[in-house]
Amino acid sequence: MSLVEKDQKYIWHPFTQMKTAEPALPIVKGEGTLLIDDMGNSYIDAISSWWVNLHGHSHPYIAEKVYEQMQKLEHVVFAGFTHQPAVDLCEKLSKHMPDNQAKFFFSGDGSSAVEIALKMSVQYWRNKGENKTRFVALDGAYHGETFGAMSAGARSIFSAPFSDLLFESTHIPFPKDEQAAMQSLKTEIAKGDVAAFIFEPLVQGAAGMRMYKPETLNKLLQICKEAGVLCIADEVMTGFGRTGTTFAVNQIEAKPDFICMSKGLSGGTLPLSLTSCTQAIYEAFLGDDIQKAFLHGHSFTGNPVGCAAALASLDLLEKKECQEAIKNITSSHKTFAKKLEALEIINEIRQTGTILALELKADSSGYASSIRQKLYTDFLNQGVLLRPLGNVIYILPPYCIQEKELKKVYKVIQDKLTELSQ
Ligand code: PMP
Repeated sequence: MSLVEKDQKYIWHPFTQMKTAEPALPIVKGEGTLLIDDMGNSYIDAISSWWVNLHGHSHPYIAEKVYEQMQKLEHVVFAGFTHQPAVDLCEKLSKHMPDNQAKFFFSGDGSSAVEIALKMSVQYWRNKGENKTRFVALDGAYHGETFGAMSAGARSIFSAPFSDLLFESTHIPFPKDEQAAMQSLKTEIAKGDVAAFIFEPLVQGAAGMRMYKPETLNKLLQICKEAGVLCIADEVMTGFGRTGTTFAVNQIEAKPDFICMSKGLSGGTLPLSLTSCTQAIYEAFLGDDIQKAFLHGHSFTGNPVGCAAALASLDLLEKKECQEAIKNITSSHKTFAKKLEALEIINEIRQTGTILALELKADSSGYASSIRQKLYTDFLNQGVLLRPLGNVIYILPPYCIQEKELKKVYKVIQDKLTELSQ
């Protein structure tokens, strides 16, 4: 049996269970931005493999640091024990974060990082003797796939089968309409039961790379701060340079109480996530009563190998070359976007830092949009991996992407959009 036949026999892939789905493509090697299949064809990974990869695939420096750590300590229970890579990672990370972030809680994926922030918010209020359990989020929000994260997110095709089981949360208008979002946030907060406001800062990923201004986000956070409502920045997608700054919240003055990180945290090498919070949050859990403690901890919490990968990735991110690359990608996107403006098929062009989104005019939008599958296949056949979100084509490349690779990505998109505009 071939690899593909065995794959079809055993493996349940995400998102590709439709009877019409193509078989999964066997990838045998990754190098820089390239993914290479078993026939030797290469694909430019223009979406950083679901937004995780920062410095390219199989990066030798990260591989070396992971190997070194593997030989010293692969894992240890993190309740009651610690190790150098975890401590070094938090120390190094904190230099890039708003200065109110004091404590770091480890887990293994973005959904868990969010779940932890949600649970900590509710328990924070309980520990203070207040019953605040409702979350306010943005219209279109996506925060992950566990039940809590799904409940905080907007109701969508992803959460529909579970709708009866989700707890209620409130979704205020998307802040492109600043006044509507601010007004609605104030109204919800006035009801007195809001535990926290959770948001994807500046860019909503799964909703189709929808973007809003730092000034608006700052105003929303100020409203929360004045009312004592906790703020959770879900930087699972936006973190680690995607929006032009290491964290999107670095572009605003107001400071969130929690920051959720994953994906780029380990440079896309190993599953790892973090929920950071303020000292005030942490202190609300301290005491002699075990019931005040946050009794939550996943098996692989604080995995040393994941931390070693994250430390290595941060070393690379801090390098001048990488910071220059982020600026170059940002300005190349700007130039490219200008070229597309006049095309008939374009509905809207959006850009924040290294993320460029091209929303097309289409009969239907959203994940199930019919244009999506055709674009995906056409791009892949030309050696470029782009996974449009419904009628939105977006580029979110690893920072190591070469100029000629970026040009190729632009060319396949421009050719396609020109064809669709005729
Ligand atoms: N939050 C955001 C903003 C995300 O984009 C994602 C994943 N796409 C998640 C949370 C969930 O992360 P994970 O898939 O690692 O659980």
